[in-house]
Amino acid sequence: MNWSERISPAVNSIPPSGIRRFFDIVSEMDDVISLGVGEPDFITPWHIRDSCVDGLHRGYTSYTSNFGLLELREEIARLKQNEFGVTYNPRNEILVTVGVSEALDLAMRALLCPGDEVLIPEPCYVSYKACVTLAGGIPVPVSTTLETEFRVTVEQLESRVTPRTKLLIIGYPNNPTGAVMPREELEKIAGFAKKHDLIVVSDEIYGKLTYDGQHTCFASLPDMKDRTILLDGFSKAYAMTGWRIGYAMGNPDFIAAMTKIHQYTMLCAPITAQIAAIEALRRGEKAVQQMVGEYNFRRRLMLDGLHNAGLACFEPKGAFYIFPSIKETGLSSLAFAEQLLKAEKVALVPGDAFGICGEGFVRCSYATSSDNLAEALERIACFVKRLSR
Ligand code: PLP
Repeated sequence: MNWSERISPAVNSIPPSGIRRFFDIVSEMDDVISLGVGEPDFITPWHIRDSCVDGLHRGYTSYTSNFGLLELREEIARLKQNEFGVTYNPRNEILVTVGVSEALDLAMRALLCPGDEVLIPEPCYVSYKACVTLAGGIPVPVSTTLETEFRVTVEQLESRVTPRTKLLIIGYPNNPTGAVMPREELEKIAGFAKKHDLIVVSDEIYGKLTYDGQHTCFASLPDMKDRTILLDGFSKAYAMTGWRIGYAMGNPDFIAAMTKIHQYTMLCAPITAQIAAIEALRRGEKAVQQMVGEYNFRRRLMLDGLHNAGLACFEPKGAFYIFPSIKETGLSSLAFAEQLLKAEKVALVPGDAFGICGEGFVRCSYATSSDNLAEALERIACFVKRLSR
């Protein structure tokens, strides 16, 4: 049987992830220092793990409500109220999901009709475009530039909006650039969304990982709560990638629509992860701040090291990525990454994996030990020096 002919055209149309492809090569090699991974190198704080074990001992092994445990939704509502002054009803405005990944997929499937256009500022997280395509929508990439440190502008958005545009997806702090949007700039984006009557999906999974001022929650801007679908989760800030737990917040009718899909597909997020997430929100802040302190130290190390190696980069203000330009070397992003891997055994991700305007850049993650980073920076410096000879 020819299976490729039977696979849905939507699935056939999405390219394999540029990150995955690269890491298949890395997994076959020894002694590679990887700056490629997009997940914390920390283990989930012990008290969070312990709460899950305790829950198991107490026999919490069942399904939960489709929405997720009410106790968890109450903690999530409290978090957003305390941090940003934005009020959500835990009973009908919050859906607990299997990571932000599921929330993103549900949001697209609940919203999009065939032909609906979705503005996606690039460079961006690789799943945005794929989820839009799989839901029958049309991703419309909006290129950003180094001049504005990859923060999207209203002018850039205006140039791509059409009468078919339904939605804008933003993700700040940004993967892969580390860019953070100041409040004034987000207010301009809010004005744009209002003018064109767009819904905004705001992926704030890195919201707790900022190094220079506090994150602004898009839904907390004046008049934005009702048109925003706020996505957040536990993977990055609490080092909980493997637990698969996140959430969506928004208008009750829309949350009901997402839940309708979720109840037939996932039913609910794992109860073990939900119990751990309650503990994370109740007592995890100290551990988060310790990790943020460590990331900030590494961020400085990376900035200095990359500058010393002769690679220009702007100062990232959030997440755990840095996005240096490799244009000076004359190599493409892919050639730079492949040659560096081969010559110096350092893995990073070619910038074009995150959109066309990422060409000429590479993504380095500093979610690895400072010893690893120091060694990787030396190897990168040697590599760049040899190229310039
Ligand atoms: N959003 C962004 C911007 C990410 O970088 C990632 C993972 O790398 C995700 C969402 C996926 O998060 P989760 O582990 O909650 O599914």
